[in-house]
Amino acid sequence: MVKHNFYAGPSILPREVIEATAEAVLNLNGSGLSVLEISHRSKDFQAVIDEARSLFHELLSIPQGYTVLFLGGGASMEFCRVPFNFLKKKAAYLDTGVWAHKAIKEAKAFGEVDITASSEDKKYSYLPKNFKIPADADYLHFTTNNTVYGTEYFEDFDSPIPLVADMSSDIFSRPIDVSKYICIYGGAQKNLAPSGLSFVIVKDDALEKVDRYIPTMLNYKVHVDKESMFNTPPVLPIYSALMTLRWIKKQGGVKVMEQRAIDRAHLLYGEIDRNSMFEGTVAHEDRSRMNVRFVLKPEYQSLEGEFLKFADERGIVGIKGHRITGGFRASLYNAMPMSSVQVLVDCMKEFEKLNS
Ligand code: PMP
Repeated sequence: MVKHNFYAGPSILPREVIEATAEAVLNLNGSGLSVLEISHRSKDFQAVIDEARSLFHELLSIPQGYTVLFLGGGASMEFCRVPFNFLKKKAAYLDTGVWAHKAIKEAKAFGEVDITASSEDKKYSYLPKNFKIPADADYLHFTTNNTVYGTEYFEDFDSPIPLVADMSSDIFSRPIDVSKYICIYGGAQKNLAPSGLSFVIVKDDALEKVDRYIPTMLNYKVHVDKESMFNTPPVLPIYSALMTLRWIKKQGGVKVMEQRAIDRAHLLYGEIDRNSMFEGTVAHEDRSRMNVRFVLKPEYQSLEGEFLKFADERGIVGIKGHRITGGFRASLYNAMPMSSVQVLVDCMKEFEKLNS
């Protein structure tokens, strides 16, 4: 049966990325060696990481003065590397839910943390806006897409202080004005590659401004100077990342990714709003294009398990909501074809016909 993969992460990758990775695992560029068994300092791998870095610059129009890093550790490691490298006295953080909390927790170990705005009052079902950013903070940190709660900021704020963003779950789904940020980071396992890899876009002249000792592996400056090769980087995820970046370029770039994301989200939210059995959980203007949350209306809630089974029988996987929020979550990352969204929409329609 054809599978329709709505997992939140690790999650769907373009089929040709998986096939190209599989091929390189068996025989990299016809070398007779696997990508798993070559030195990260070999000419073949150097070409991989160089092209991946350069495609990041090209696809996101990253200005001069920034470096792209590929590091081990995932986004959770960056929660700690960010304040280690940038927090002098005080940092501002937006509290938009679970991943923001984890970032805030780490920052508190390094200085004062101003919780500039929070949507906790409504269980993170909307995004704070029109807040006053403290001009004396070193940076404002926010999560552009809240994978668990299904909210997303679509713009890069105007801010009196530099921005830092966790873009784990919406990188490459829209153009970004990188010049507003000193750091953009994320785990690779949604829109880019298998897990175990962080991508970091860092502004070079924002580094080395703190007085504290930074352990070598946590020091962005070390990784900038060593071009992500201070130690052995996650070779296989970087190879897959390159395949994804080539795929994005071939599709037409991030503008095309953005339009597809808008179209997919429009189709699914349209059905959620139309269907008499389901409802969305997030303020309309803040609805994420990447992670669509919905629930059965209270009178139908006892059918939750039945709907999951009904969907599973149609090849739909990964729509069970996060354990914190319950309900359903359909993740619509870049590689998600419109046809799979249509299968989910048809499944919801059919379920309604049988049960309402
Ligand atoms: N930030 C966001 C927005 C996420 O969705 C996730 C993972 N789901 C993380 C951070 C944590 O990423 P990692 O597992 O790579 O540490």
